[in-house]
Amino acid sequence: MILDELVRENVKNMKAYSSARDEFSGMEGVFLDANENPNESGINRYPDPYQQELKNIISKIKGVNTKNVLIGNGSDEVLDLLFRAFCEPKVDNIITCTPSYGMYNVLSELNNVENRKIVLKEDFEIDSDEIIGNVDDNTKLIILCSPNNPTGKLIPLKQIELILEKVSCLVVVDEAYIDFSADEGALSLLQKYDNLIISQTLSKYYGMAGLRLGLCFASEEILSVLNRIKPPYNVNTLSQEKAIEVLKQFDSNYKKEVIDERDKMFDELNKLSFVEKVFPSDANFLLAKTKDANLLYDELLKQKIIIRNRTKEMLCENCVRISIGTKEENVKLIKALKDIEDEKSIVY
Ligand SMILES: *Cc1c(COP(=O)(O)O)cnc(C)c1O
Repeated sequence: MILDELVRENVKNMKAYSSARDEFSGMEGVFLDANENPNESGINRYPDPYQQELKNIISKIKGVNTKNVLIGNGSDEVLDLLFRAFCEPKVDNIITCTPSYGMYNVLSELNNVENRKIVLKEDFEIDSDEIIGNVDDNTKLIILCSPNNPTGKLIPLKQIELILEKVSCLVVVDEAYIDFSADEGALSLLQKYDNLIISQTLSKYYGMAGLRLGLCFASEEILSVLNRIKPPYNVNTLSQEKAIEVLKQFDSNYKKEVIDERDKMFDELNKLSFVEKVFPSDANFLLAKTKDANLLYDELLKQKIIIRNRTKEMLCENCVRISIGTKEENVKLIKALKDIEDEKSIVY
């Protein structure tokens, strides 16, 4: 891959905004360089634009060099940066699989970039031949979601490697749910493939959806392009500090708890007469095919239980996506589902 051929012309030529904190990054001194309010309150100073302390912790947890980490204001910002760095509106295209995460399409529409959607195969496997066959000179990104939202299906590393080897565009693996999987994910391939970009998040497993922190792992060369175009202070001080605090005392038992609860819920859902199939999941949610997703959604809503109705998604007719909650919440859900079954409010 030749990165220069993938970067948009305007981005290649542009100079990054040089912030006050770029020019001088020491901790001690009299800071009269950024027009801040000098009265110390903990938030009166601009944040570290490169989030060094947070990156140090993340790189330790993930076993990745800090130079290969970029932090975004949620993975949504990471994806947004990728579009704006590499995809020329009205000219370039991206390849995604469908059904998958809705943001890929929102971003492609927003940026006026064609999204070539490759329908998943049976059992929700990705169609590698179709993906590779659809790549042309204007394809900049292939986005693979593993484990996939809403199917919960993991893409085997071998299959990701096969695509990485066959194409010379960038391959983005969205691993928002990888922390719930027994699979190690694609981080181990980072040194081997210079066209690989991995996106993860602190929103799901690490429980910080409210902070908006997305992680991007890639070569230094790719990250230098993204760092050039990112808003200089994209991650605020409070998010950086809180994330450091949470990560330092993170309870790693949570993974086992989710998997145990997921297994239990899988069995319970399967017992219900109006559930036709529960799909195996590597994530913290289950996708279930039901007799009538709209009716089920409404019935649960009456009991103030909110799930995601995915019936309008490709291949997901009458499917609902259910997050794994606390033990108590999951018991409530199953009880509500059994009541619905007993009342026969869904008639079959
Ligand atoms: C939830 C989710 C994300 C996370 O987005 P954030 O902006 O980091 O909260 C990313 N990708 C997928 C597939 C998701 O489901």
